[in-house]
Parts: sequence; structure tokens; C-alpha cells
Amino acid sequence: MAEQLIVGGHRRQAAGGLTFTLTDPASGGPLTEVCQAGVADVEDALTMAHEAFETHGAWADPATRSRVLHRVAQVISDCQEELARLEAIGAGHPINDARWEAGAAARTFEYYAGAVDKHTGSVVPVSDPGLDVVLREPVGVCALIVPWNFPLLIASWKVAPALACGNPIILKPASLTPLTALALGDILVEAGVPHEYVHVLPGPGSVVGETLVGDRRVAKIGFTGETATGAGILRASARNITRVSLELGGKSASVVFADADLDRCVDETPGAVFGNAGQDCCSRSRILVQRPIYEDFVARFAERTKQMTVGAPLEEETEMGPLISESQRRTSLDYIEVGVKEGARVVCGGEPIGPSGFYLSPAVVADVDNSMRIAREEIFGPVASIIPFDDEDEAVRIANDSDYGLSGSVWTNDAGRSIRVAKALRTGTLSVNSHRSVRPETPFGGYKRSGLGRELGMAAMDTYSEIKNVFMWAGS
Ligand code: NAP
Repeated sequence: MAEQLIVGGHRRQAAGGLTFTLTDPASGGPLTEVCQAGVADVEDALTMAHEAFETHGAWADPATRSRVLHRVAQVISDCQEELARLEAIGAGHPINDARWEAGAAARTFEYYAGAVDKHTGSVVPVSDPGLDVVLREPVGVCALIVPWNFPLLIASWKVAPALACGNPIILKPASLTPLTALALGDILVEAGVPHEYVHVLPGPGSVVGETLVGDRRVAKIGFTGETATGAGILRASARNITRVSLELGGKSASVVFADADLDRCVDETPGAVFGNAGQDCCSRSRILVQRPIYEDFVARFAERTKQMTVGAPLEEETEMGPLISESQRRTSLDYIEVGVKEGARVVCGGEPIGPSGFYLSPAVVADVDNSMRIAREEIFGPVASIIPFDDEDEAVRIANDSDYGLSGSVWTNDAGRSIRVAKALRTGTLSVNSHRSVRPETPFGGYKRSGLGRELGMAAMDTYSEIKNVFMWAGS
């Protein structure tokens, strides 16, 4: 039987009776059937969510919301292995990564469970006789549209703060990876979020996504995906002045200076570029290396990359699984070809691994110039472009010479330089002597074409709430 939608907290078939088939990235064969939501299902979800919000506003008082979200975190933790296996099978993630992602999703709910009653308004000193208070209120129906690369984790980044603020949510997972989003929907209901406030609608972006984005009952769109899709959503949201936050593409730079701790940097860089087979918006896909250590870095990085275990998602030792689809693998191969034509050098990898599934060995491409397409465009596959530089000014100039500005790293043992470069780089998230990008407690999002607004931290609570200013006259 096909995996059913969640409308009004209940599992059901799609109104139109349609289903679609998921593909197993590890074998290339069919995985399972999923009910495919259509316009009628979106209408049902919107009607229920909107009516519930118009009638009740926030779905519970703050203490209750906090308790329920703590329960969500607990159930996710209890089901960590089950969710990890579902993500490994559906999205091709190595099982150990998938375990970490499920744990991080639980931690995200835990964080927002604690944030509910700490996201406060304020009292503003005004000259008029009276009291002026700023209130925070839920924004209304939230359409949360997520991509296939981290299906559960990215859903949690949106669902948790939206619910913490008291809103109804309609979650639209990517068509390639709806399974863990549906499992999350069940968990929300089991933990006690009212039924009318929980809807999960797998179905095509061109139908489910566009219908949601164009409907005036949607108060807020939280979107993660490609920059081109995000631009279309921004245009469509203008019609109803719908609030929108966008987490989009990236082409992040890791800047490695000659004085860096090269052992640690080399050891950690393959994971930062090839984690999730490079299908990571924060992937450090441009590695800028200072010339005195350039050849040494290239050789050592390639050696370490060759040692990565590419294999089946459920094997414990797998470090890199398959790509999500044949077309995603084809895109990576095409970019490597373009890079070579433009004068870059493939040091290792870039070979399809058979006989079945969408496997590709991680590719290290050296002698890249920042003007080449492999340095400018998001590949979203396991391809690292290494670019040499001479000095600090040139490193900053190259790193900033990008349409994107999502993430990045600086590797140096010079404290002054790390501060100067961190301040000069135009990117939303930066790590010094580390490749870590995302924590539930800290704001995450992009400069330039990498997005609009911030997720995570208390910044996300702002984007899922409205500000109301109330002045209370106290004149005699
Ligand atoms: P995508 O093609 O833009 O799709 C993202 C989501 O939008 C999917 O659920 C998709 O549905 C839906 N969608 C497609 N067209 C739509 C439309 N016209 N209106 C409304 N919704 C629509 O992105 P993707 O290929 O899934 O994800 C990869 C991209 O996400 C990369 O560019 C990556 O950098 C970016 N990303 C960014 C972040 C970040 O935090 N900045 C994090 C992760 C990923 P269907 O699946 O049905 O097409």
C-alpha cells in the first residue's frame, strides 16, 4: 500500500487517487509508492489550517507548546534508529550520517521547546503619556517547502520554530524524499500538536508548491531549495505580500593559509566537500590554498579523498553513499568535463561506480581558476575545485567573487588574520579552523543569492511571528 498523505493530522489517500514511485538511490530500482497530493488536497489542508488559526490563533498556551515540542524531541530520539534507516534508504545517506541528522532534528525541537517562552516582546519608552508594548504573535498558516538533500533535518529547522510560535504548518517535502517528512508528521500528532495544525503533502512542486505559494491564506512561506526556484517563489509571494524566507544555493570557499594546521585541515576537508555526496548547500566546494603549500595540500587531500569509503548507505563503514538520482550524477560528470575543457586538472575521482545505483567517486579537481564554471556554479555533487592564491587580499577577493554567500571556512594559526578574513568574507556563516556550519542555537542563512532571512537560533522565531505594537493611553 502506498504511503499516505497527512491532512488534518490524519493519514489518507490523495483526493485524486494518484500515487508516484520513489527510486532507491542505492540500486536505481523502485523503492516504494507514495500518494501524490493534488490541488484538492492542498485546498483541504489550507481550509483546515486557516479555519483553525482564525478560530483559535496559537495552538496552545506557551507552556503547553513547550511541553509538546519536548515530547516531539523525545519521540524523535526514541525513533532515532528507525528514522535514520528511513533516511538512509530513501535519500542514500550513510547510516552514521543519518543517525546524526535524526539526533540533530531532535535537538532542534528541544531547542525550540525551550525558546517558546523566551521569545518575548518589549516595553518601549515613548514620550506620549502611556505604556507602549511590543507583542510577538504567530504569523498564521506556514507553508514549509523543503529539498531532498537533508529531508528530515531541514524540515525540523522550519517545523520546530513555526510550531513554537503557535502556527499551523503545511509541510511540502521534495518529491524524491517524502518518507521522513511523513514520519515527522505522525510524530507531531502523536506528541500532541492539534490535528488541524499538521499537514504533510508530498506532490510535485509545480502543483502542491505553487498552489500553496499562490494562496492568500498562507501567511508565511519557508523555502529551502535552488536559487532559481526561490526567485520564482519570491515573485509569486509578491501577489499577496506573503512573508517569505529563502535558504538557497551555495558555492562556499574554504580558505587555507600556509600557516594552517594542515594535518587537521586535510583530515577534515573531505567530509566538508563530499559529505552527503557533495549534495550539501554548505559544501566547501571551492578550496582556496596559499601557493607555498598548494602542491602539498593537493597531494595530501587527494590521498585522503581516495581513502573515503564509498558504499551502500546501510553499511556501517560507508562515508559517502550514492547521489540522489542519475541526473544528479550526470550533472557532476558534465561539470568535471567542462572543468577539464576549461583547463583544470582532475587529480582523482569522478568515476561512476557500478553496477547499479547512482554512485560516483569523489573528484578532486586542481588548478581551477575562479572564472571557470566549476568554480562559479553550484554543482551539488562530489566535486572539489582547488584554487591557488598568493596573499590575504587575493584570497578574500576570490572567495567573495561569487554570486553566492552561504557558508565558508578560514584555516590559519594567525589570530589577527582569522579575524580580518572572517570580517571581510561576505557569507552568512563562517568557521575558523573548522568546517562546521550549522547549530540549532545560531542563525543560519545566506548573503547575496544564497537566500533571504535566517533559520535556526532565535532569528527563526522572528520569521515565524508578527510584531504588534500596542500603545495604552495613561493620560489624565
Ligand atoms: P528545488 O528543486 O528548488 O526544490 C526544493 C523544493 O521546492 C522541493 O520540495 C520542490 O518540489 C519544490 N518546488 C519546486 N518547484 C516549485 C515551485 N515552482 N513552487 C513551489 N515549490 C517548488 O531544490 P532541490 O533540488 O530539492 O534542492 C537542492 C537545492 O537546495 C540546492 O540548490 C541547495 O543548495 C539548496 N539547499 C539550500 C540550503 C540552505 O539552507 N541554504 C539547504 C539545503 C539545500 P519537487 O521536489 O516536487 O520538485
